[in-house]
Amino acid sequence: MSVDRAELDQSVDEFRDLLEGLALKIHDHPELRFEEHKASRWVAECVEQAAGVQVERGVGGLETALRARIGSGRAPCIALLAEYDALPEIGHACGHNLIAAGAVGAFLALAKQSKHLSGTVELIGTPAEEGGGGKIRLLEAGVFSGVDAAMMYHPFDRDLLAHSALSSSWLSLSFEGKPAHAAMAPWDGNSALTACLETFRLIDSQRVHFRDGVRVHGFVTNGGQAVNIIPERAACEFSVRATTTAELERVRGIVERCARGAALACGVEVRVEARSGYREMRNNMTMARRFGAALEVLGRTPRETDARIGAGSTDMGDLSQSVPSIHPYLAICDEGESMCHEHRFAACARSPRGLATMLVAAKALARTAADLLENPELITQAKREFSA
Ligand SMILES: [Zn+2]
Repeated sequence: MSVDRAELDQSVDEFRDLLEGLALKIHDHPELRFEEHKASRWVAECVEQAAGVQVERGVGGLETALRARIGSGRAPCIALLAEYDALPEIGHACGHNLIAAGAVGAFLALAKQSKHLSGTVELIGTPAEEGGGGKIRLLEAGVFSGVDAAMMYHPFDRDLLAHSALSSSWLSLSFEGKPAHAAMAPWDGNSALTACLETFRLIDSQRVHFRDGVRVHGFVTNGGQAVNIIPERAACEFSVRATTTAELERVRGIVERCARGAALACGVEVRVEARSGYREMRNNMTMARRFGAALEVLGRTPRETDARIGAGSTDMGDLSQSVPSIHPYLAICDEGESMCHEHRFAACARSPRGLATMLVAAKALARTAADLLENPELITQAKREFSA
């Protein structure tokens, strides 16, 4: 009573039209964080119609989250995660449409052999990865409480099994000065905008003190009210990222200090609002290597990581701190051709190559889930590594 691996591959190929259609439909209707009403409905309909499995909508109190379950209903439980949110202006430039279709593909293939699963497989639709922290909300709501291992894949420009993701946080800085006529009596005012711009310069001056891997990047969200008024209000937002939570906290303190220093120099008030972002990714190597072995069977040659390329942040990082998890990357374009959050990457996420990678991901996810279910010692090893 074991899952036939070749049959898993075959099933994914049989569902090809359906999966590609799903990926393209989601791509063509980009929805922002927490607004993925169409995408989550299409994912649910796809699973209900193709596998005859009922989908729970609105799990964990999130309207656009979902869950479907197959197998024995007993432990171990493997979660396959589907993201489907898009970005403002540039649409599916992170390729989450391919993540969704790949997870659905793996789930449908496993559902065809549901009777042979020695455990449970869940498909969990996780909204709002782009700045909304959907997985954190689901984690807090207990959606992952019965899950022994969680996995997803992410489109990229190369195949990497266990690339890092940074710990992150957001800072909103609002400056309030004193307005005055910019020509008639500028000496009567205190410019909030000057303090805002000075903050950017001060932060740049501190970069020499940052550790490797730190990222601090921001943009102005309010630059003033009119050309002839000394700006009374100005605001900016920063994202701070680091490879560890400790370094993140240290650098966040520096950014805050720069804002306060700029405000002091300009004679304006500053309000600092910090929101915690995502935690760093803990790649479970036991699972990642299994996924790698499955990829090799499917003709790919993944590396574990690549020091030449930067890292982003993901709410999968938070999940990986609670449950053994993987978040491997798979190429949907040539190395260096394009990168997540670029217009060209959005085009890659609906290209024949992107769709072909999605099918490979579906097969590799399904095979890895089957491996984990059928080898209790693998789960034990993944958990031991997690606790270490
Ligand atoms: Zn992404």
